[in-house]
Amino acid sequence: MSAASGVIIAAHGRHYVAQAGSQRLHCVTRGKKSDVAVGDTVTLKMTSSDQAVIEGIEERRTLLYRSDQYKSKLLAANVTRLLIVVATEPAFSDDLISRALVAAESAGVQAHIILNKIDVTASLEKTRGRLALYAGLGYPVHEVSARTAPEEAVAKLMPVLQGQSSIFIGQSGMGKSSLINLLVPDADIAVREISAALDTGKHTTTFTRLYAIDDATSVIDSPGFQEFGLHQLTEGMLERAFPEFAPCLGHCRFYNCHHISEPDCAVLAGVKEGRIAPMRHALYAQLRHESMQTIGY
Ligand code: GDP
Ligand code: ZN
Repeated sequence: MSAASGVIIAAHGRHYVAQAGSQRLHCVTRGKKSDVAVGDTVTLKMTSSDQAVIEGIEERRTLLYRSDQYKSKLLAANVTRLLIVVATEPAFSDDLISRALVAAESAGVQAHIILNKIDVTASLEKTRGRLALYAGLGYPVHEVSARTAPEEAVAKLMPVLQGQSSIFIGQSGMGKSSLINLLVPDADIAVREISAALDTGKHTTTFTRLYAIDDATSVIDSPGFQEFGLHQLTEGMLERAFPEFAPCLGHCRFYNCHHISEPDCAVLAGVKEGRIAPMRHALYAQLRHESMQTIGY
């Protein structure tokens, strides 16, 4: 059978769905390999009219992934934007936001934050206050209400998505599904079709999927997750993934300073003088600790 090129639009274990022109193909990898991500452009070898084997992966522009001590998990390939969905309620986790921001920085992906449920006025000011830290670091924050002002939400977010490949992540309950359904009108139909192609039965929300909005614009919805390990990042990658550290780097007494407890450390001075939030430095230290468990300096 013939060869084709396609884009991976869904992944579930080692099963994938590729969009090749107007065709949706159920794909598998050769052997036990599972290094394919949603968003990858792949070369395919057809094995039947609607099935194919993934032969190769084209060079990626970006790759987002997380990892723990034992294994890594690809989130998405070729994305240009990471949209973190948070809400006035339930409360969001600063740890998860900062980890996602670090992942984006180290992958060269622009991160934005969407604050949903601004109609819940009781907790709005408090939430804005918490997000001011990230806005201050230069990450745009977009305020919307998917439920009470859906048209305004679309008008505000469409320009952010246009011409980009965006991945939405968020803890469950923030309204990520509500927003995706507003931005991708036929998302529910697409999910049912992809689910049928993957044969995942009713587990329709547990896989990552890509929706093409137009030729240049796509949106990836990823299932919620509680853990965001970044064991793969080395110390050098970590210090560069905190934009507020940038003015300090190269100004420590020791050229190989770890910014943990060294004398005359410019980063620690930044924390002391209030230019770097203690919470962010604590996360840097934690991530460095985690990565040492794996890499072993
Ligand atoms: P997900 O788990 O992040 O995908 O969140 P859902 O889209 O399923 O929404 C979680 C809950 O929040 C649902 O009960 C939604 O109706 C509700 N919700 C979503 N958007 C808004 C909003 O803008 N305002 C309010 N008050 N509730 C919302
Ligand atoms: Zn230092």
